[in-house]
Amino acid sequence: IKKQLLKAEKMEIVSHLASSVVHEVKNPLTVVKGFIQLMLQDDLPHSKRKEYLKIALLEVKRADEIISDYLLFAKPNSENEKILNTKEAVQRTLQLIYPLASMNNVELETKVEDFYIRGEEQLFQQCLLNITKNCIEAMPNAGKLRIETQRINNDLLLMISDSGEGMTKEQLSRLGEPYFTTKGRKGTGLGMMVAINIIKSMNGKLNVKSEISQGTSFNIRIPLAVLDSPPKNEQDKRSVL
Ligand code: ADP
Ligand code: MG
Repeated sequence: IKKQLLKAEKMEIVSHLASSVVHEVKNPLTVVKGFIQLMLQDDLPHSKRKEYLKIALLEVKRADEIISDYLLFAKPNSENEKILNTKEAVQRTLQLIYPLASMNNVELETKVEDFYIRGEEQLFQQCLLNITKNCIEAMPNAGKLRIETQRINNDLLLMISDSGEGMTKEQLSRLGEPYFTTKGRKGTGLGMMVAINIIKSMNGKLNVKSEISQGTSFNIRIPLAVLDSPPKNEQDKRSVL
């Protein structure tokens, strides 16, 4: 019998994410509010006004970054869980990251089959997006992003790898730690935490290997979807393939 996360546990993981995003977005918004108030002064010189607008714009951008790293979905809902086609999810992710990839001269290579898993579509999408976005950001001057699938027993193995700058042992060990980023103000340090939590909520496992200047590979293992009522007398679970 496969170990399943209780629904309540899953909800807790996801609602925890939602409450921290609120907190994270509030900071830049507070800054924006302050500068808008300053700009309401009548005798403000034009140059000052422009300076304040620039700061406000940067902070709005930051809030936007946080939200998009964080959650595309509004409310967690385990009723949104359904059977997902891995291939379709990967294709949608590729569409989303295509502009960023071409900006960085990153070549995309995929070998993905129609494997079915159970989960929330938007969450899984967010997970793939956060991981692939990091991969592309690790290859600012060209490289290759590969996405492959395999079946191992009753699990899907989804492999995402880049030929980018890689991570040190120390960085690798901190991956997924909230707010851990090497990207300064451009980073949120939330993307991997979100991705890891989503994989967990799908009863999956993530294994990351990285080598400085060589690249990084993310191996995601998630149980394949199982037919609801296997015929009597049949002991092994059948996968929907
Ligand atoms: P952010 O991307 O905002 O920095 P993440 O949580 O997405 O936050 O990633 C945290 C850190 O993990 C990154 O700043 C980077 O140092 C490291 N990292 C993640 N993915 C990769 C990758 N594919 N290659 C190299 N470093 C990575
Ligand atoms: Mg990121």
